[in-house]
Amino acid sequence: MSLIVMKFGGSSVGTTERMGRVAQRIIDKKLQGHKVIVVVSAMGDTTDDLIDKANEINEKPPAREMDMLLTTGEQISVALLSMAIHKLGHEAKSYTGWQAGIVTEDVHSKARISDISPDRIFNALEEGNIVIVAGFQGMTDRGEITTLGRGGSDTTAVALAAAIKADVCEIYTDVDGIYSTDPRVVKCARKLPAISYDEMLELAHLGAAVLHPRAVEYAKHYNVNLVVRSSFTNNEGTLVKEEAEMEQGVVVRGIAFDKNVARISVLGVDDTPGVLAKMFGALADNEIDVDIIVQNGVQDGKADFSFTVSSSDRARAFDVLASIKSSVPYRETTFEEDLVKVSIVGAGMVSNPGVAAKMFKAISDIGVNIIMVSTSEIKLSCVIASDPLTDVVRALHTAYGLDSSDTAFVGGPSDRR
Ligand code: ASP
Ligand code: MG
Repeated sequence: MSLIVMKFGGSSVGTTERMGRVAQRIIDKKLQGHKVIVVVSAMGDTTDDLIDKANEINEKPPAREMDMLLTTGEQISVALLSMAIHKLGHEAKSYTGWQAGIVTEDVHSKARISDISPDRIFNALEEGNIVIVAGFQGMTDRGEITTLGRGGSDTTAVALAAAIKADVCEIYTDVDGIYSTDPRVVKCARKLPAISYDEMLELAHLGAAVLHPRAVEYAKHYNVNLVVRSSFTNNEGTLVKEEAEMEQGVVVRGIAFDKNVARISVLGVDDTPGVLAKMFGALADNEIDVDIIVQNGVQDGKADFSFTVSSSDRARAFDVLASIKSSVPYRETTFEEDLVKVSIVGAGMVSNPGVAAKMFKAISDIGVNIIMVSTSEIKLSCVIASDPLTDVVRALHTAYGLDSSDTAFVGGPSDRR
């Protein structure tokens, strides 16, 4: 007998009919002799709809009230799912995040879980119940209701799995695993049997939105065995764990891309200590995430440098730079939009020479210019013009020997954000 956490995303419980199928799936697991704790997201587009409603009433709703509102989405799901299980003749009990003992830090809209006291859910399990916990929510020490950030139900599931020392945490979603790249772009993308936490973390941060990055961080920290699998089929999913074997001769595990990249250049900056600290400090104070930073050489005591931000932050970043021009003088700022960052990820990259050269060659063979490059031990990213992205991703997929002969399965509407 195992202790298993099963997490179902919003599209998996998007209709009452789907809810019924999920209920059956949970019961099947219990009938196999396991103890089951379930975490669910809000049904379908509920969270988005609630956000729209809030904005109709007040375009700047207080964060506290927003959390009060959004947590209702998951509360609906857990109650209905429990009813569906009862209807099929089994015992289940639903709990809000705070009833399940999930304590968070004192921040609204993207709180981190600080502690879990799982006594109550253990008792309910002992009594023979299927336990159902609302994802994405918790409560502060002061009794304030909080949410964990969009997509946060994954984190609830992993954190609960860690707290109760579950044998496995299964994330059921609308794709049947983690793929070598987006199967909608590359038809012969392959489903990975396993991937390491570090590789998954890179892919999650790079925009492969199947798993929430914070959930992967948690899983890594507490060594939780995670499985990503489809809620619509019985296909085996992808196991996320400490170390995953690489197929012989394969060094790259996956290819990710982020389409909303803008590059900002700041030209003619004084080449003196503290300048970058001031500039990037100001951007950070304004919550602007900066990605790749490149300094382009110094002439006559003046430096030029470029950095990337997400397109949606470009205008604000420009405003911030304008606002500090008097304390950090520079000649001018320029920008380019419609760029993409394409990245290859693989734990084997560190110890294999020639990986980068292969990427540059595959990209230049299609006549695409590489604008910026950044590397980490297990990742290599190139910023390029957004056209022809599909060709680039396909070429890289082939170059690194990732093409599979099976065509990927892509399921129903997306849980992925
Ligand atoms: N319902 C929340 C959202 O849509 C949390 C989740 O789905 O994980 O972001
Ligand atoms: Mg969701």
